[in-house]
Amino acid sequence: MKINTDQIAALIKEQIKDYHHKIDSSDVGTVVTVGDGIALIYGLDQVMLGELLEFPNNVFGMVMNLESDHVGAVLLGDDTLIKEGDTVKRTNRVMEVPVGEAMLSRVINALGQPIDGLGEIKSKKHRPIEVIAPGVMKRESVNTPLETGLKAIDAITPIGRGQRELIIGDRQTGKTAIAIDAIINQKGKDVICIYVAIGQKNSTVAQIVEKLRQHDALSYTVVMAATASEPAPLLYVAPYAGCAIAESFMDEGKDVLIVYDDLSKHAVAYRALSLLLKRSPGREAYPGDVFYLHSRLLERACKLSKEYGGGSITALPIVETQSGDISAYIPTNVISITDGQIFLQTDLFNAGQRPAIDVGLSVSRVGGAAQFKAMKQVASSLKIDLASYQEMKSFSQFGSDLDASTVKVLRHGDALLEVLKQEQYAPYAMEHQIFDLFMAKYNYLDSFNPSLIHTILDQAYRYVNANFPSLITSIKNDKVISNEVEAGLKNALNSFIEGFKKENNEE
Ligand code: ATP
Ligand code: MG
Repeated sequence: MKINTDQIAALIKEQIKDYHHKIDSSDVGTVVTVGDGIALIYGLDQVMLGELLEFPNNVFGMVMNLESDHVGAVLLGDDTLIKEGDTVKRTNRVMEVPVGEAMLSRVINALGQPIDGLGEIKSKKHRPIEVIAPGVMKRESVNTPLETGLKAIDAITPIGRGQRELIIGDRQTGKTAIAIDAIINQKGKDVICIYVAIGQKNSTVAQIVEKLRQHDALSYTVVMAATASEPAPLLYVAPYAGCAIAESFMDEGKDVLIVYDDLSKHAVAYRALSLLLKRSPGREAYPGDVFYLHSRLLERACKLSKEYGGGSITALPIVETQSGDISAYIPTNVISITDGQIFLQTDLFNAGQRPAIDVGLSVSRVGGAAQFKAMKQVASSLKIDLASYQEMKSFSQFGSDLDASTVKVLRHGDALLEVLKQEQYAPYAMEHQIFDLFMAKYNYLDSFNPSLIHTILDQAYRYVNANFPSLITSIKNDKVISNEVEAGLKNALNSFIEGFKKENNEE
């Protein structure tokens, strides 16, 4: 039988006419090169920026670069499982993480999978990790304090719910300690906490989880860890993923505190990815959009207005400086994005002034609006007093003959600094902080040796609580020091100090 080639061609054409319906070439691509956690892919011409891609062996990737002839993706898993020529499928979804109550008291990785060995997380809801921040119309200005329990912060650089306050300082100056104390202090205050560890050691994260557990803080906290041993893409997505979890709570009208520890390492991870993706390096080899990297993250922290549920996300990003240089690239960026910074100094830390907060360089631009009246009453003069103390102190080093007024300023400053010192993991209730600062403000402590001051504060607080409990409870409940309470406190303290002096033969 003679075969008509035309007939065959027509037959085949007929069969493959609908072929593109079954496999759309724009939904499947081929790996061209792979390595260092990056894959370049041919095809996928309809893919979205940030879309999740499915590689063989259950590895996922995220689209970072859309070029004219290829797509660049970062791999969120082991890149040795992928080889050239592998098929890549679109998922039509941007990256999502599980969210909701089920995440509380769990330790998860940047993809939202549990890493604490406590079994599967039964979460029904998912959220995309990148969303556009709520607009101005949805927000209101901060009006409720977020109490950190640290006198030096709540008095001088108060933080409001919905604020972004940067914690910045050299390595080992107590940055993480402040954030963890703030989390511990949220116990019973209806604030959900999320701690995102970026590029830290596994052991450090394990210690933090253990401390949170010891202080009963894990029940209202989610710990997300993208440690130094993990691939850079996971470090890159971690803060956005953590923020997505925070947003799900905020949308339910809850208050959330989120800590990003730290964004310097986040920027470094992003720089590594960008260089591997051959994006052109700029200042300090960071890509040009490194500002956008952090601004789009921190912009998502906000206080929603009543109509939108009134929830909030308070962000405490942490940035590490090199020898106190806050004018480097990443520090200046994040300072300009946030509503203030808490600056920690190595010198102060080593001199025993802990938390080592530099009062002069630390500011909170909006938190004052949310500070309790009672705290304002005792803390208003604090910053000025400390500034004049610092000034006098540098002068007094030149001469030993000081006039009485200088000595007074110096002694008051010494006492204030002593009052602001605080142990780790020991946050103070608001009324306790106010009590201590009240004693400092009205010069009850100036005549004593600084080494005695903490004993005096402790004993005085116990004395007043035992003999005049209504004074403390009225500060706690009314959040203001009325004239009667002020007079009552002064009377109580006068008799306490008299007794203390007699006991210690200081008369
Ligand atoms: P790194 O740069 O390594 O992340 P860091 O700036 O986060 O360090 P921390 O780890 O918080 O610093 O603290 C450094 C050390 O100082 C820790 O051993 C911690 O226990 C101690 N420390 C921090 N704050 C205080 C404090 N208020 N009182 C006593 N010790 C403190
Ligand atoms: Mg730290």
